Amino acid sequence: MQKVSQKVGFIGLGIMGLPMAANLIKNGHQLVVYNRTKSRAESLGAMGAELAGSPDEVASKCQVTLSILTDAPDVEQVLTGGGGYINGAKKGDIFVDMGTNSPSNARRFASLLSEKEVKFLDAPVTGGQKGAQDGTLTIMVGGEESAFEMARVLFEHMGKKVVYGGPTGSGQLLKMCNQIVVALDMVASTEALLVARKAGVPDSKLFDVLSSGAANSFTVQNLLPKMMKGDFEPGFRAAHLKKDLSYATSLSRELGIPVFGASTALQLYTALTSMGMGEKGTQALKKLYDAVGTQP
Ligand code: NAP
Repeated sequence: MQKVSQKVGFIGLGIMGLPMAANLIKNGHQLVVYNRTKSRAESLGAMGAELAGSPDEVASKCQVTLSILTDAPDVEQVLTGGGGYINGAKKGDIFVDMGTNSPSNARRFASLLSEKEVKFLDAPVTGGQKGAQDGTLTIMVGGEESAFEMARVLFEHMGKKVVYGGPTGSGQLLKMCNQIVVALDMVASTEALLVARKAGVPDSKLFDVLSSGAANSFTVQNLLPKMMKGDFEPGFRAAHLKKDLSYATSLSRELGIPVFGASTALQLYTALTSMGMGEKGTQALKKLYDAVGTQP
């Protein structure tokens, strides 16, 4: 396994990026970081990271740069906007997009960067804010295998499971499948809670059963308890799940595969974001059901 010994770039220090970058520092990597809202980078500065003023500056100082941004237009902005990464990138560098978008966007970014002979990996993650904090993410990667091997040590210092999926877009493809399951788990958990409460089943008994039997999942373990407590703050924003379902359902359409559940989940999350709840956590789905009259 090759080790990345040079400085490592990290762009996007949101709910996921900040703890992921912190784990790289804790594992001995020297980081050059950039975040659009500068104040969010300060805690990493205190841990020894170099704070850059633009993606361009990150690129000029690093061979491998990781990013985890909201959506594809944001990746495009960071790559090609004012002070964009591409201006400072050098032949042989590697840019890794760890946010969730789509295989076709991954191929577009790869092609755009290939003009400067920069390699591209799509490497979305799953495991939530907790996985990012604990360094236990699952990371799924698409792109040239030699570039993957160069960056592998970084993935291993942020996650517990790293899956190389194949050519560019393979990471995003796996992530879309993952999000179909994640979304439907949330719908199921919400409906189970509402039925249980209406029928007089205590939350503690419902949790005991769901978390120990065949219904157990990340959602049941981590988000159902928050929903029960009325804690709707984001680990994973509802607007982001809507984005993911939108990508997943449009790919399914292209493939000619009916996805009844994912399409319903997309409608539910579209409604929830229309209610102004997009910045809440995905567990705020209960608010939508409450709004249509399911409250006891
Ligand atoms: P977040 O907290 O909203 O952070 C988004 C980051 O992207 C922030 O650093 C933001 O900068 C930056 N950004 C957005 N648009 C930008 C632009 N146009 N130019 C420069 N920077 C920009 O989101 P997150 O929860 O960390 O999620 C990031 C990605 O990971 C998303 O694709 C999401 O779907 C995916 N993901 C999230 C989770 C989760 O549980 N949260 C799990 C797996 C995957 P500012 O600080 O300036 O706003």
